[in-house]
Amino acid sequence: MSFDTIPGQAQAKRILQNGLRRDKLSHAYIFSGPSGSGRREMAKTLAQAVYCTERKDDACGQCLECRKVEHGNHPDLIWIGPDGASIKIDQIRELQKGLAYRSTGSRTKIYIAEEADRMTVQAANSLLKFLEEPGTDVMAILITENGHALLPTIRSRAQWIPFVPMPAPAMAAALQEEGFPAALVQVAVQLVAGLGAARELLGTNWFAEARNVMIQLAKEVDGRFPAALLTVQNKVIKTELQEHLDTFLDLGTLWFKDMVRLSCGQKDQIVYIDQVDWMSRQAIGREPGYWIRGMERTIETQKRIRSHANPGLALEKWLIDIQEG
Ligand SMILES: [Zn+2]
Repeated sequence: MSFDTIPGQAQAKRILQNGLRRDKLSHAYIFSGPSGSGRREMAKTLAQAVYCTERKDDACGQCLECRKVEHGNHPDLIWIGPDGASIKIDQIRELQKGLAYRSTGSRTKIYIAEEADRMTVQAANSLLKFLEEPGTDVMAILITENGHALLPTIRSRAQWIPFVPMPAPAMAAALQEEGFPAALVQVAVQLVAGLGAARELLGTNWFAEARNVMIQLAKEVDGRFPAALLTVQNKVIKTELQEHLDTFLDLGTLWFKDMVRLSCGQKDQIVYIDQVDWMSRQAIGREPGYWIRGMERTIETQKRIRSHANPGLALEKWLIDIQEG
């Protein structure tokens, strides 16, 4: 897999490909950024590029070395991740033994640690010793959502590779290309940081339903209030959605944001793209302040539920507050 097949992350690619070109790769990298931003793919591609027999600063994807990495059976590459809650010192020791045993000569050995911030202090210290042993040609790639959570001693010895969240429009285009419905994609990319996380959300059974219920409530709360109360009971509290109230209320916040925009006559950047007609009519019936207050109340309700308020009562109060403006 070539670096070109990974969307975005120009800075990360530039640093790594420069290192490959000049034979100046670091012994340790910290791939820090949100899940779904391409960190695993980048780590795999870097490993392929190191071993690739055809290309110097990229992976051809075709040679034996590239294919071994792709299929997870390259003898000099090991992936590790948390065993239970953390990456433990025994895992690092096993790794060291394993690499010594499996090594096929003098080539660079690479290990990739996922969720590296979950290394215990002992594991991290053992890793450091390993990295600094003279004469060993080892490269560590530490993947984490938060590189700042790693020990300072590790941070100071590793090169930092920042991964940025993919911009929402690029994410939306990629997901629609994969066949996900546009109306759902527009909402999903506002809620999560990476392509992987968005795909996961779109793949659930409840996400489309959550959006439908939010649209229904938005219609009912304006004029058919008793129906809205019933909808909350029957379609949220008594269903699977009860377990996803945080996301459900995020959908409400996005809806109010759309209404603020529409009440000011802005039709670009609307998230509920397939609902614009009736939403526009409803939006201009009120002052923008009404929709802003609705948004604030949605965020307050979310906080209340996060701190364990009764969900049914909290949602009921939310609807009443919205209706009263
Ligand atoms: Zn290759």
